[in-house]
Amino acid sequence: MAENKTTKAEAAPKKVTQSAKKAEPAVKKAAQTIKKPQTIAVTSPTGGSTVGLRIGAVALWLLALICEAFAVMALLEYFFPPFGMSPMAFLIGMIVLDLAFTILAAQLWKKANHIKPMSEKRGKLLFYLWNELGVIMACICFLPLIVLLLKNDKLDKKTKAIATVCAMIALLISGTVSADWNPITAEQKEEAEAQITTNVYWTQFGHKYHLKWSADGDEESCCTYLRGKEPYEGTVTQAIEAGRTSICAYCAAHYAAEMGLELEDLNVEDRDTAEQPGLNIKPGTQNDTQSNTEDE
Ligand SMILES: [Zn+2]
Repeated sequence: MAENKTTKAEAAPKKVTQSAKKAEPAVKKAAQTIKKPQTIAVTSPTGGSTVGLRIGAVALWLLALICEAFAVMALLEYFFPPFGMSPMAFLIGMIVLDLAFTILAAQLWKKANHIKPMSEKRGKLLFYLWNELGVIMACICFLPLIVLLLKNDKLDKKTKAIATVCAMIALLISGTVSADWNPITAEQKEEAEAQITTNVYWTQFGHKYHLKWSADGDEESCCTYLRGKEPYEGTVTQAIEAGRTSICAYCAAHYAAEMGLELEDLNVEDRDTAEQPGLNIKPGTQNDTQSNTEDE
């Protein structure tokens, strides 16, 4: 397996399978060394260009705004819904399109920010606005419509109620999906690439990456959150560009010291907990791991 990886240095991150791992030596120390090919090149799969992603995001936000404008114009009776559509069908159709466009735009925008993060030197406010532009645009693309719907007294009650609730739910969904919960700075990404030379692991729906995983899942070689799972494996660059922007707090608390990582320079999930290894970190749903933290 290690040989395969060295020949495909820039291959996309692959899903680690239990069966593949079983072929490796049972001795866990040996498994550890085999599992960490040092030769994987830390290069950006996209070459670092984010212009296309950002143009795509802006274009999609414009389409979302156009949908909102159509809905607003129909509400204000500048025109009647085409093709004999009922006002309700037209409004809900525009809200659904608006939702789809804002979500897609925000995903492209976040992807661009993970490939080429903003420097922390630009200041906290600008950093926040830039990384959460998806949330801001979700508000711009739904709030005016919601306000107009609430103030409207020409629609029948049912249409008004249903359209308003749909728009509010759409705003909630779009805002949540568009948020970048743990944005990374350019400096933190550079530090991560310099410090973490071994492969990292992440799960399909997780927002962070993990430092250690092994199929046997013991405490020294596997993060408690990854026990019994088959995570994706790749370079830290690949993890960040896949949207896993921070180190898992458990891994930071348990493995950073032995790996010689300087956590203060890195993006760490739940930083306060991570920097005090004595603290009991809630190990998710796996109760059998609770004892891990007690004997420290
Ligand atoms: Zn972890």
